[in-house]
Amino acid sequence: MRVKITLACTDCKQRNYNTTKSKKNNPDRMEMKKYCKFCKAHTNHKETK
Ligand SMILES: [Zn+2]
Repeated sequence: MRVKITLACTDCKQRNYNTTKSKKNNPDRMEMKKYCKFCKAHTNHKETK
């Protein structure tokens, strides 16, 4: 049930994180606050393909 996803910063569009998610718990696009080293701040990161 776990799928690989990439998380991209919504501010600078850099892809900063690779992670996995459960399709059961998160069937839609995930968004979470994470540290972006390019923005040097915590920004929203969105799931990309
Ligand atoms: Zn950023």
